[in-house]
Amino acid sequence: MGNITFTMIKPEAVEAGNIGAILQRIETAGFRVMAMKKIHLSPQRAGEFYAIHSERPFYSELVEYMSGGPIVAAILEKENAVTDFRKLIGATNPAEAEPGTIRAEFAENLSKNAIHGSDSDENAIIESDFHFTKEERY
Ligand code: UDP
Ligand code: MG
Repeated sequence: MGNITFTMIKPEAVEAGNIGAILQRIETAGFRVMAMKKIHLSPQRAGEFYAIHSERPFYSELVEYMSGGPIVAAILEKENAVTDFRKLIGATNPAEAEPGTIRAEFAENLSKNAIHGSDSDENAIIESDFHFTKEERY
C-alpha cells in the first residue's frame, strides 16, 4: 500500500485515441489503478473541480475545454504517488516538459496538455473524493 494521486486523461487525449498508450505509461511506471471511469463532466462539475483557478484568466477556457468531451478519471496508488506522478507527466506547458514525459509526448499545448495530476496529498484526497465513492475503489 502506497499513497494515492488523482488523474484525468483530458478530452483531446481521449479523442485522439491515446487512453491505452497513456495508461500503459502509468502502469509501467509502477502505479496501480485503484479506481477508473470514463465520464463527460458538465460545465458546472468541471468548474467546481477547478474552482481553485476561478480567478485565473484561463478559467472559463479551462472549464469549456474540460467539459467539451469525455475524460478518463482515475485514482492511482504508489509510494510517493503525487511527486512521482508529477514527474511522470512533466511540466504544465509541454514545451517545457522533460523528454519522455507524458505531456512531452501527448500534449498539444499549455491548455490542452493531455493529463491532470494532483499537486499535493491533500488535493489528491479531495479530488479522488470528488469523483469516486468508496465502493468504486479496489
Ligand atoms: N492552464 C491553461 N493556461 C495556463 C495554465 C494552465 O490553460 O496558463 C490549464 C492547463 O490545462 C492546466 C490546468 O489549467 O493543466 C490547471 O493549471 P495548473 O497550473 O494547476 O497546472 P497543472 O497542475 O495541471 O500542471
Ligand atoms: Mg494543478
